[in-house]
Amino acid sequence: MSRFLSEDLKNLVPYTPGEQLAGNFIKLNTNESPFPPSSRVAESLNTVEINKLNLYSDPTADLLVSEIAKYYSVKKENVAVGNGSDEILAFAFNAFGEKGFICPEITYGFYPVFADFFGIDLETVQMEDDLSINPEKYYSSKRNIILANPNAQTGIYLDLNEIERIVRSNENKIVIIDEAYIDFGGESAVSLIDKYDNLLVVQTFSKSRNLAGGRIGFAIGNKELIADINTMKFSFNPYNVNRLSILAGSASMSDCEYFIECTKQIIENRENLIEFCHANGFIVTPSKANFILMKHPSIDGKDLYLQLKEKGILVRHLGGLISDYIRVTIGSKEQMDKFKEKTSEIIKCKIQEI
Ligand code: PMP
Repeated sequence: MSRFLSEDLKNLVPYTPGEQLAGNFIKLNTNESPFPPSSRVAESLNTVEINKLNLYSDPTADLLVSEIAKYYSVKKENVAVGNGSDEILAFAFNAFGEKGFICPEITYGFYPVFADFFGIDLETVQMEDDLSINPEKYYSSKRNIILANPNAQTGIYLDLNEIERIVRSNENKIVIIDEAYIDFGGESAVSLIDKYDNLLVVQTFSKSRNLAGGRIGFAIGNKELIADINTMKFSFNPYNVNRLSILAGSASMSDCEYFIECTKQIIENRENLIEFCHANGFIVTPSKANFILMKHPSIDGKDLYLQLKEKGILVRHLGGLISDYIRVTIGSKEQMDKFKEKTSEIIKCKIQEI
């Protein structure tokens, strides 16, 4: 820390991203897709566009906004885009943070960081024993609400009716639904945006669109909310989505067939892994995301994480309230087969030791 850092930022604890290690690891630690982007992405990134990188990108990112609006059957005025959904979430915290936020005690680790960064109160709400969220705890809240659905870390999904009840019972608070993982089996709340002017849905291209490195996220909501998000954007970084990502994102959004094929494969691999967990004595959350959270009575989470790492498989050990668990990203069938093989070896050894 330099002696110049502002006093109010001295205690800021930054977000810790998952390890990005060099080497030949099977990487199941940051919920990326194991599949490459749609072939339309490479086709769209032609030399003509690359040679235009001397010019700024379109600050309205019209091509990308139009493609997202078309996909969700909403108007362009209902869509704002950002450099990853992290940036969109940061804009939303900044824009709407005055009344503070509430969120579940186990959720996306960036929410408390944004709250600290912008000096916003963030209150956490206790989870149930099975790590699910009780929606009633979010009715008539004193603060704004941010919920990841499916929830980060657990993958547990709240039914759209439950989301609607939360939104309806908080008409004077903003409800942000972070749908980073919605495409792996959930139903999006985008269908509710015309009915509720206090609902902001945030999504990303990083998971189901196989474009984490492209850094593209977006918000869908009532046009006034979107105008507020764009005021943040134009007050911070008007060219937040670069030329190549605008093309890549719109090409990816247009390829419905490939999107369906990839998400279907992930869902199949997830259900298969959950079955493996049940058959091998693991406790596992009923995830509707592209990851699962699992624990075994014979080994602690950190130990399992370290042993898998030694065997060339990188998963996430998050610690805190879920330190018994590891979080495992759903990869390709081959990656999952390797994961199951190595995990079985570790568990067998542990059980013999006992
Ligand atoms: N929301 C949730 C719940 C996430 O887990 C993540 C990524 N890990 C993000 C938002 C951010 O995604 P990105 O910035 O890549 O769009």
